[in-house]
Amino acid sequence: TLRAARPLAVPRALPGAYTHRFASTFALLEQRDGKLQPSAQNVVTAARTLGNPVVGFVAGKAAKEVAEQAAKIEGVDKVIYVASEAYEKGMPESYAPLVAENAPEDTTHILSVHSIFGKNVMPRLAALLDVQQVSDITAVESPDTFVRPMYAGNIIATVQSSEAKKLITVRQTAFKAAAVGSAAAAEIVEGKDSKHVGSVEWVEEHPAVSDMPDLATASKVVSGGRGLKSKENFDGLLIPLANAMGAGVGASRAAVDSGFADNSLQVGQTGKVVAPELYLCVGISGAIQHLAGMKDSKIIAVINKDPDAPIFQVADVGLVADLFEAVPEMTKKLQK
Ligand code: FAD
Repeated sequence: TLRAARPLAVPRALPGAYTHRFASTFALLEQRDGKLQPSAQNVVTAARTLGNPVVGFVAGKAAKEVAEQAAKIEGVDKVIYVASEAYEKGMPESYAPLVAENAPEDTTHILSVHSIFGKNVMPRLAALLDVQQVSDITAVESPDTFVRPMYAGNIIATVQSSEAKKLITVRQTAFKAAAVGSAAAAEIVEGKDSKHVGSVEWVEEHPAVSDMPDLATASKVVSGGRGLKSKENFDGLLIPLANAMGAGVGASRAAVDSGFADNSLQVGQTGKVVAPELYLCVGISGAIQHLAGMKDSKIIAVINKDPDAPIFQVADVGLVADLFEAVPEMTKKLQK
């Protein structure tokens, strides 16, 4: 009789999946100058794997137009936007409280890309909401368990979060870009704005302008190191090779610190993380801090005159040669 009195079993969703009717995943989508950044598509893929409806969020001067772009990403159910110049630069002091104000109460996860923007905004948001953040994830095991590299990629940790709201930054290269449809599929809604003012003011910026493919999203990258010896060689040898290959340009920290290349080109633990189809290292030794930014590249090719350089241990193809001979020769052949 006891058995008969038991309620009928409730149909169960996938193990660990959220079943709350209104639960949602809130995805901060980065914009610049009214253009949705490509990372938005990777963040949506990560958000999608969590199982709840995905609500995108954009703020900035032309946020309404950006919301229209975001609404076309497959897998986005709704986009909330706040159109105001005050949030254009994503200054964390004002952007974080704006996110807290707009994230639906029943949001289970708040995601952002692990870019300068995400690394700025999310810790402040975590402090505001009094939760612990999970940073730079490369995979979702379940709605509360995530995979993330630590110690420059020497350890791959699986972490479980018991927070009611999980704040997560996502490694862009680890998640496929969600497809973009031709028509808006998601609902677009204007968000709330209590006119948050931060203690920091945006004064000016001097972005490095380049017509070369963007390092973060290029399918091929040519990176130069200290072996190039000077800025003249970096500009005169490496960049023509990259142009001939249609590749983006990267650099080691030693090359950046020596003034051969702009800081925005640095690849590695303290620079950008890239995973192109082809990564060609020229005059780079292969320090672990550099490997942390490129070792997930599909094919790693190396030009180095030292056959014992550690970079050869991760290389798929290697050329032991003096770069001052090999690079001009390769460039010439490619230009033909
Ligand atoms: P080197 O190690 O000096 O290597 C130069 C290479 O060029 C050598 O292998 C040499 O054989 C080769 N070479 C020289 N002449 C020629 C020639 N004529 N032809 C062919 N080959 C030649 N580094 C990063 O890159 N990115 C990071 O984000 C980063 N973050 C760091 C964070 C921390 C906390 C620390 C401590 C270090 C970090 N570093 C980083 C620095 C890193 O440890 C190395 O010092 C740096 O990567 C070395 O750069 P490199 O390979 O260009 O120079």
